Amino acid sequence: MPEMGAKAPALLIDAMLGTLARRLRWLGYDAEYRKDLPDQAMIRIAREENRLLVTRDKELAGRRGVRALYIPATELTEQVQQVIAAVGPSLHPPRCTVCNGELIAISSAEARPLVPPYVAQTQTEFVRCRRCGRVYWPGSHWPGLQRWRQGK
Ligand SMILES: [Zn+2]
Repeated sequence: MPEMGAKAPALLIDAMLGTLARRLRWLGYDAEYRKDLPDQAMIRIAREENRLLVTRDKELAGRRGVRALYIPATELTEQVQQVIAAVGPSLHPPRCTVCNGELIAISSAEARPLVPPYVAQTQTEFVRCRRCGRVYWPGSHWPGLQRWRQGK
């Protein structure tokens, strides 16, 4: 079991947990997702990037030399609860649900050419993913962002 701490560790999410990875990003966890990689490659990435490996593979989770969290639950809400119980709540803003990139605030002028016209007309605050360029705005398709903003 990983140590508890104020700062949640970076995570490496294994195959079959892609939906969990996206949900954790909503919640502000640094959750990289890889699939179709052999176990040894996952272990190497987890070590090199100092990430906690989150997996449904009990054998993999039990390997020596890697910090891992075994997720027995099959239901998303339970999976999220297991992660939070193990590593603590995230204190960070949401990350890009698509690629796990950091989100940075951009101006309306910057966002205008990147979003649908009705959004440009009705919204004033936008964030953009540093990695893939996707733009998000409050109250849109992204409840995680709204939740975070309301909590501030
Ligand atoms: Zn992104």
